Amino acid sequence: MLQIEIDESKCIACGKCYEICPKADKIWKISNVAHILDLRYCHVCTLCAMKCPTDCIKIIRDGPKD
Ligand code: SF4
Ligand code: SF4
Repeated sequence: MLQIEIDESKCIACGKCYEICPKADKIWKISNVAHILDLRYCHVCTLCAMKCPTDCIKIIRDGPKD
């Protein structure tokens, strides 16, 4: 099962993950840190992780809940 982990200690809430994600309004919520709402819409393009300036997004294709 796909998982995206955000290192909240490194997230600066810049919103770049939201800006680049094709399904941002369904997947991302940016408040004081970035949150994942619903990963069913994620197609694992990895753009968010590539764009994150603090490298705090970790995409795990085969998470433990599989
Ligand atoms: S791009 Fe990275 S630092 Fe910016 S809001 Fe998203 S997770 Fe946080
Ligand atoms: S991998 Fe792509 S679709 Fe999934 S959250 Fe990141 S930018 Fe959005």
